[in-house]
Amino acid sequence: MKRVGAHVSTAGGVENAPLQASSIGAKAFALFTKNQRQWRAPKLTTGSIDAFQQNCSDGGFKPEQILPHDSYLINLGSPDPDKLQRAREAFVEEMQRVEELGLLLLNFHPGSHLKEITEEKCLQLIAESINISLNATKGVTAVIENTAGQGTNLGNRFEQLAFLVDRIEDKSRVGVCLDTCHLFASGYDLQCTEAAELTFSEFDRIVGLQYLRGMHLNDAMQPLGSRVDRHASIGKGTIGMEVFSYIMNNPACEEIPLILETPDHEAWSAEISLLYSLEG
Ligand SMILES: [Zn+2]
Ligand SMILES: [Zn+2]
Repeated sequence: MKRVGAHVSTAGGVENAPLQASSIGAKAFALFTKNQRQWRAPKLTTGSIDAFQQNCSDGGFKPEQILPHDSYLINLGSPDPDKLQRAREAFVEEMQRVEELGLLLLNFHPGSHLKEITEEKCLQLIAESINISLNATKGVTAVIENTAGQGTNLGNRFEQLAFLVDRIEDKSRVGVCLDTCHLFASGYDLQCTEAAELTFSEFDRIVGLQYLRGMHLNDAMQPLGSRVDRHASIGKGTIGMEVFSYIMNNPACEEIPLILETPDHEAWSAEISLLYSLEG
């Protein structure tokens, strides 16, 4: 079964995320477990955790279908030692929150070299950051998201994702989340079925489809290879519909969270129905 959902709001508490997801007909969802633009967050209360788990079970959401996203402030490859330390502490805290909620995945952007260190050095720091966080926690898988390659963000090339995966000590706790907008922005064509097939087989060859633990389904505002991260609603951007049909019929995308991060939240329910209508 395909698990399509959206990155829903946690206004009023994390326990509201599964309710939001159910209300739009989602069979998966993503969330921030804390304010994504702040370093500090109050601890999750037992009441909130219990209500979250109850609402997930009522809504039929299993931990494998829930894809928490970390804070945008965290740069696991920061060239500045103090900032790197802070990022690592914050990332461990994010993993602990995921653990407390009884979840299994944490989705994050690898990091940025900020033109102060080489790409390779930055990737080494990121891999080290991931290993430190996995050692400090139990049961949570680090899910590396491919990026659009905007600015000095790494993780836009499959080779960079493979470099990271190769260096993670516990291979059972590392995965990848592919964002269709980011793929397209970084030059991986998805505009027709043949192009999508080629992109997926490249991913399989370089990283391995067995590492695919989630996807972000977004159309793009900009042309192929723009390296600009601007999401568009499904079918309303430069990628078009074919890739979504390809994904909805791809066995590699079964039972993993397929998450909309499209700009028009009011359209999510219709977009979810549209995606399910593409199943053959
Ligand atoms: Zn992301
Ligand atoms: Zn994006």
